[in-house]
Amino acid sequence: MPNLSQLLTTKSSVEYKRVFEHCRDISNELDGVDGVYIVGGIVRDLILDRAPGDIDLSVVGDAKAFSQELAARIGAASPDESQFLTFKIRTSGIFSDVSSIDVVTARAESYADSAALPDVSVSSIDDDLKRRDFTVNAMAISLAGSDWGTLVDPNNGFGDVMRKRIKVLHDSSFVDDPTRIFRAVRYAVRLGFKLDSRMNELISKSIANIDRLSGTRVRNEFELVLSEPNRVEMLRMSEEIGLLAAISPGLRIGTKALQVLSEQSESDSVELPDLLAITTFGLNEDEANQVVQRFDAPPASGESITGNAQLAKHVAVLDQPNLAPSEVAEILREIPLASINAYILAGPPLPRRDKLVEYVEKIRFIKPEITGDDLLEIGIPQGPIIGQLIDVVRRAKLDGKVSTKQDEIELAKSRLPGFLAK
Ligand code: ATP
Ligand code: MG
Repeated sequence: MPNLSQLLTTKSSVEYKRVFEHCRDISNELDGVDGVYIVGGIVRDLILDRAPGDIDLSVVGDAKAFSQELAARIGAASPDESQFLTFKIRTSGIFSDVSSIDVVTARAESYADSAALPDVSVSSIDDDLKRRDFTVNAMAISLAGSDWGTLVDPNNGFGDVMRKRIKVLHDSSFVDDPTRIFRAVRYAVRLGFKLDSRMNELISKSIANIDRLSGTRVRNEFELVLSEPNRVEMLRMSEEIGLLAAISPGLRIGTKALQVLSEQSESDSVELPDLLAITTFGLNEDEANQVVQRFDAPPASGESITGNAQLAKHVAVLDQPNLAPSEVAEILREIPLASINAYILAGPPLPRRDKLVEYVEKIRFIKPEITGDDLLEIGIPQGPIIGQLIDVVRRAKLDGKVSTKQDEIELAKSRLPGFLAK
């Protein structure tokens, strides 16, 4: 096996190197530890000379004792243990490049049922690599003193990195875990790799298994795509291979949405609700509801998806000339901000666009100065009337009919008899 100790020492940042050296020392000193490896994406990225993400370690032996010792040596809090002998060391306050170190006990996995979570048992590093998604993600580099830098690569991932190729380890990989279809798209586009020639066939055979994934898992994978800088390319590819339609039949990315997303891709600071609203721009109400249902989406994400169709129903009114700001506010008050922003970017250049911009930039911030307490203080009785009067004042303020707090109080007082008479 080739030795990649060069990658551990000269190609890694100071922080990574410090962690690797602690791992080497601990594996020499702790009796219950038979092997320590960096595994998965970090190996792939070091070989490619790309900045790696977080550190994934696989320990053959006592991963708990190992991770506790590692946490202590780098000055981190005691690791959190999660399912099946997996430990997370949080390093965000300690390192700037690495926010966490995940330590797993080397394990074998088997799938009793498609798309279910696997059965897991403690095993060797070779088995730990066999359970992985793609050959390029199924390599390990030893950090133990005796074979520091040795590459463990039973599936020829190194060759596939050189050939720029994403390839599964076995033919039922996507059936076992259909989230790997999303992952294939992400790596292919992110790394500029090609899908291996058999992959398209394997993907089409197993794409229907996307149906068997829970809403949370599908949404999670979809949101990971949206969070990547190359999201446009990834969405295009997802559409091409039938992944979007497999998520929900009406899910597609319109030309205008793609154009807006590409224009934005230079700034990665777009928030998730905005991305969801732009991506689903153009879906009708039924299609949007189906996507929300499929994603089992929490309200914050769900409303970004259904808000476009909701806005589409009302937006034409905004083309009318001489609409008062209070009328604009009334039309838009129930519409999620993300959907309004999406319409500004992807909708037609009609007068409504200026109204939407005015609402986002100005109108929505205009609030009366008076509060319920002010109205109680001048003797208005407690009850729904307080809210109704504040609403009257809010509209007057929007339309420039009151300016000072005193004006607002006077207006409320003058309207009081009308409300009392109701
Ligand atoms: P990224 O840079 O996106 O974090 P990564 O390769 O580190 O890429 P992770 O999702 O962090 O990906 O997972 C770490 C490793 O765990 C992967 O490299 C792969 O070996 C393995 N892995 C993750 N998800 C799966 C999966 N669904 N099926 C099989 N192996 C997986
Ligand atoms: Mg990772």
